[in-house]
Amino acid sequence: MSDDITETGPHTTRDTDRGPDGRRRALVTGAARGIGRSIALKLATEGYDVIGCYRSESKEARETQEEVEALGVRALFTECDVRDRDAVEEMVARAEGELGPVTALVNNAGITRNGPMPLLAGEAWDDVIDTNLTGMWNVCQSVLYRFLRRKSGACVNISSIVALSGFVTMSNYAASKAGIIGMSKSLAREVAGHGVRVNVVAPGITDTQMMEDIPVPMREKMLERIPLKRFGRPEDTAELVAYLLSDRAAYITGQVIRVDGGAAL
Ligand code: NDP
Repeated sequence: MSDDITETGPHTTRDTDRGPDGRRRALVTGAARGIGRSIALKLATEGYDVIGCYRSESKEARETQEEVEALGVRALFTECDVRDRDAVEEMVARAEGELGPVTALVNNAGITRNGPMPLLAGEAWDDVIDTNLTGMWNVCQSVLYRFLRRKSGACVNISSIVALSGFVTMSNYAASKAGIIGMSKSLAREVAGHGVRVNVVAPGITDTQMMEDIPVPMREKMLERIPLKRFGRPEDTAELVAYLLSDRAAYITGQVIRVDGGAAL
């Protein structure tokens, strides 16, 4: 196989979700807890080796790695701040050196620092944009370049319904998550001819530590507007991510799919 990244062509019929060694291998950012943990476990049940990263070491990170390994696949869980471009490249090179080629990428790491616009500190704006948007770009650049060379690979980027409808006190978060959509659509166009797919999943409010940042009265109001009458579970998003990464979704790219219990109806 040529590794010339200028070559393009139709790539919709071949086995795109396995590496040259016949294995599936996923990098999941923000994999220690919440939605990322659930994605890591779901992919492990589908036979993926899993590389998981997070901002800082924790009991949760170790437990998630152990749960992944208990499913019979290989795991490499490591601290890596996605804002740090050199650290990201180092992690990806190490993961490929120790486990083998990455075939799937899930950009899930994200934070909120909410506040009304007049009071929002510049630092809160920077932190959210740097983590959610620039951090995602850093990981995309490192991993998608490898996908281009191998002419296969799939990427799912986690946005939010807040990107699509906005939300009070979340101007920084909404901007970062809307940026992810524009970036992903552009990348999807750019890499499609090389057999690489990029999609976006936009979860609605989901029961994780992040949800605790939303005041209870506000959460109750939001629940009233969800036709399926419950908040999302991390597993709801993980199911869709696993589908989009697989060959079952071989003809889907550049899409934004909501997992929101019908909140947009
Ligand atoms: P959590 O806060 O539960 O987990 C976030 C994960 O991201 C943690 O593992 C955290 O690491 C990691 N992380 C944060 N910053 C960095 C960084 N700079 N570098 C590497 N890893 C980092 O969040 P959720 O599971 O709720 O959210 C996951 C994704 O889903 C986010 O992108 C979020 O915006 C999105 N989302 C969440 C919704 C919700 O209601 N929960 C709704 C819509 C979208 P560590 O463990 O070290 O802190």
